[in-house]
Amino acid sequence: MKIEKTKQTVPALDEIPEQTIINSITAAVSEQRLPAGTKLGEQMLSDLFNCNRANVRRALSTLATMHVVQLQPNRGAFVSTPSPKEAGDVFEARRTIERTLARKVIKNASLQDIADMRATIAAEADARAQGDKPAELRLSRTFHMQLAMISGNTVLERFLSELTLRTTLIIGLYNKVGSSNCAEDEHLGMVNAIENRDEEGLLLLINQHLNHLESSLDFKCAAKPFFSLAEQLTIVPA
Ligand SMILES: [Zn+2]
Repeated sequence: MKIEKTKQTVPALDEIPEQTIINSITAAVSEQRLPAGTKLGEQMLSDLFNCNRANVRRALSTLATMHVVQLQPNRGAFVSTPSPKEAGDVFEARRTIERTLARKVIKNASLQDIADMRATIAAEADARAQGDKPAELRLSRTFHMQLAMISGNTVLERFLSELTLRTTLIIGLYNKVGSSNCAEDEHLGMVNAIENRDEEGLLLLINQHLNHLESSLDFKCAAKPFFSLAEQLTIVPA
């Protein structure tokens, strides 16, 4: 029997509604489709996702614990707007975590892991060449999450997942006009160091890479594009 789609814009609810909302919002944030400060109305989300407001509230509450959403008394939920102080804290935490991960990655990375990271870098370069900014952002985050997965430390992997999402919000808010996200040659240098089992080299490159990202921020700029909530949430990457 053919199932008729009543609303084409609604993502498939093949999991519990809270998780679908969480996945959709985190995907949109990771691609800068959902900028900092966007209001996340309960009613609009429950309409978009065909679920009740209790599901929406639980999803927003989980996202708040991840610092992706800010819940404001009497005003509702908004995509987090990290302050300059928070931006500094996020980069400091990333330097600490990613240096720890790097030491484990040097020991753990298999040839397949290295090939997978190179494939991510190649896909990121393709996305950049095609001007596909959302894919570029998603893939540059994927690269960092691959390091975390290879390390085998699931606790640090979770921390990094949150920190990389927050970094995307920070870069979306404060990046200087014309500067990019992760430079692909820096990712390539990191993989080369991993392949050569060059721990000191890798630690140095990670520090430089994160310092470079942080130095591209300008806390005086915050003008951003705006999409409707429906546009932002309905493009769910595979
Ligand atoms: Zn990077």
